[in-house]
Amino acid sequence: MSGLNEQWLDLRSDTVTRPSAAMRAAMHAAEVGDDVYGDDTSVNQLQDYTADLFGYEAALFAPSGTQSNLLALLAHCGRGDEYLVGQEAHTYRYEGGGAAVLGSIQPQPISNQSDGSLALADIAAQIKPDDIHFARTRLLALENTIGGKVLGLAYLQQATTLAHERGLATHLDGARICNAAVKLGVSPREAVAGFDSVSVCLSKGLGAPVGSVLCGSRALITEARRWRKMLGGGMRQAGILAAGGLYALQHQYARLAEDHDNAAYFAGELAKVRGITVSTPQTNIFYVDIPADACRGLNDVLQLTRIRVSMAPRLRIVTHMDTSRDDIERAITVFGDFFG
Ligand SMILES: *Cc1c(COP(=O)(O)O)cnc(C)c1O
Repeated sequence: MSGLNEQWLDLRSDTVTRPSAAMRAAMHAAEVGDDVYGDDTSVNQLQDYTADLFGYEAALFAPSGTQSNLLALLAHCGRGDEYLVGQEAHTYRYEGGGAAVLGSIQPQPISNQSDGSLALADIAAQIKPDDIHFARTRLLALENTIGGKVLGLAYLQQATTLAHERGLATHLDGARICNAAVKLGVSPREAVAGFDSVSVCLSKGLGAPVGSVLCGSRALITEARRWRKMLGGGMRQAGILAAGGLYALQHQYARLAEDHDNAAYFAGELAKVRGITVSTPQTNIFYVDIPADACRGLNDVLQLTRIRVSMAPRLRIVTHMDTSRDDIERAITVFGDFFG
């Protein structure tokens, strides 16, 4: 498995991991069928396993997190309905406006607090009364982790209780919910308590090549399955992919702590470098603020030393299963030499 990508230390995202030999073997060996007919054993196994792991009745395999979130929005909300969502939330900001474009669902964005949460008072204030002037507020959508920050269980309980008391459903964009659960030291079920649905990404820190799983009630998943077909997400022998996802959940969940440790070490060392400001990672993501006039030079040095980071809008570093402590030591040296 050598190639151009092997020569780079890629810290842009945890989506860049490549499947290990053992994962590929599991995918190779997967029993498959036609999943549009519900016949793919490996897809069914993944869905059953994920539903059980997170404490839901049912689950649905989707080709991406964007589609999985959209399926949830479409299943929870109808035309002219509204969902409350963070300004910085992926479902609002980074999914092409899919809820509005494809679902005629109006987002009501709410400013995120610095810890990533939505203030309870802001949520309450944005729930519209039953009046013909307003869209019908149907759903509260939160995200955990958000920008690598972990929302705590007490907050999540308060927010979901508030939503339910006011007649709203609750959805969690849990692209990185496994990072949150590991960080909080709780089970996946405990991490999603209070949410009517959760979207779990298999292709971020968990390291599978493709896919997300939407979990919810049987009725919600039946509805989501219909939308998935309409969106072109009905895949045939998808068990090849699902087997990678199942392997990831079973074998690469607990090791997420290593990514968190690596990020903490990395950020701690970078914080000693003069002239830059480093955020303290809670999980596997952190941000580095550098002087504007250093951007170009740093970019050149990173190119030369074959290190990739996200530079815009902010320098972001993400650790993952394909970044070892040695890789990180190397990157620290590169940053130290550049700014030193
Ligand atoms: C990556 C991500 C998604 C979307 O996942 P894709 O598989 O890239 O479509 C959704 N929500 C969050 C928080 C994400 O980080």
